[in-house]
Amino acid sequence: MNIDAALVERLEQRKQQQLYRDRLIVDSPQGREVIIDGQYYLSFCSNDYLGLANHPEVAADLRQAAQDFGVGSGASHLVSGHSRVHCQLEDELAQYTGRERALLFSSGYMANIGVIVALLGRGDTVLQDRLNHASLLDGGLVSRAKLVRYKHNDLSDLNFRLSQVQSGKKLIAVDGVFSMDGDIAPLDQLSSLADSAHAWLMVDDAHGLGVLGANGGGTTEHYGLSQADVPILMGTLGKAFGVSGAFVAGSSALIETLIQYARSYIYTTAMPSVLAAAILRSLKVARSESWRREKLNRLIERFRCGASQLGLSLLPSKTPIQPIVLGDAEKTVQAGKRLKEKGLLVGIIRPPTVPNGSARLRITLSAAHEMSDVDKLLDGLEGLADG
Ligand SMILES: *Cc1c(COP(=O)(O)O)cnc(C)c1O
Repeated sequence: MNIDAALVERLEQRKQQQLYRDRLIVDSPQGREVIIDGQYYLSFCSNDYLGLANHPEVAADLRQAAQDFGVGSGASHLVSGHSRVHCQLEDELAQYTGRERALLFSSGYMANIGVIVALLGRGDTVLQDRLNHASLLDGGLVSRAKLVRYKHNDLSDLNFRLSQVQSGKKLIAVDGVFSMDGDIAPLDQLSSLADSAHAWLMVDDAHGLGVLGANGGGTTEHYGLSQADVPILMGTLGKAFGVSGAFVAGSSALIETLIQYARSYIYTTAMPSVLAAAILRSLKVARSESWRREKLNRLIERFRCGASQLGLSLLPSKTPIQPIVLGDAEKTVQAGKRLKEKGLLVGIIRPPTVPNGSARLRITLSAAHEMSDVDKLLDGLEGLADG
């Protein structure tokens, strides 16, 4: 069979399983509303939790940085692409997270791969929660360490699996807030367990940073855990911080190791300085404007209260990620379409992003929303519980 015939056959299969993915084309900034095909939609599917993706001061600093530094970074960080602004941002991120140092990556996907590849190799073991993000799983695969998955948030399963590891280094890698379920990992217990099992602990806080903790320090701030408790902290800059990119924070030895050995750090062009300048501003806004987190919590409470009155079953999530699990992929696609016809945009999430039989609407809230937006969403969801 020639290549296209083979590919088309596989694509057709995916369509028949109701798992085919399409992209929307957005003609506006991210915000409470987006424009698609000339229509306004209330958006409940971005990860712009604090409403910073279109913040005027963040955009102004980006424009100014384009004047000062140009656009392209020209080379990788290790050659000549590492600018003064990157350096400032790394210092700010270390301070924000209460870690000794931080290192920028171009994306969270690359940061996760880079860390695991730099720390582990053949003969080592990486233990991961079953619901971890794909990038952590891929990092485990690329590293050639043994990949062991434990039951979601199940400490005794993890403990048992740790006890089975005979030799080599052990790394426990976990999402701080699970991206498709919205629940928070029991990091305090994971930290004690890692300690007693002589395992290293890595947290991917893509959805906790900016959102959890009084200062938006994320899941580690939520639990009051220091660098000694959680030695490897990964955070992303394209979600609550509204821009793009990611970082790893931890000890100086960790950061130096990543600079030497993280291939996804070394062999790629540095993030443009304009983005680093924009992130510096969005970090300031995220930290100082705690009203954004307070408002978000009120929106979450309103949504959960209203949804349970509609008889919808929610997951135990205290975060802006509020999924409604419908199970069947086709049913989920149809429910998403009906909401879109009502001007409401929600995430339609199907396998393999989530386990088979757990397709869901992934609703995300943002400080950019108003209470009345949540009420409109609830109106749109009415009747969903009855099938
Ligand atoms: C989004 C996400 C990533 C990837 O981050 P990007 O910067 O978008 O590549 C990694 N981990 C988790 C848990 C995520 O939700």
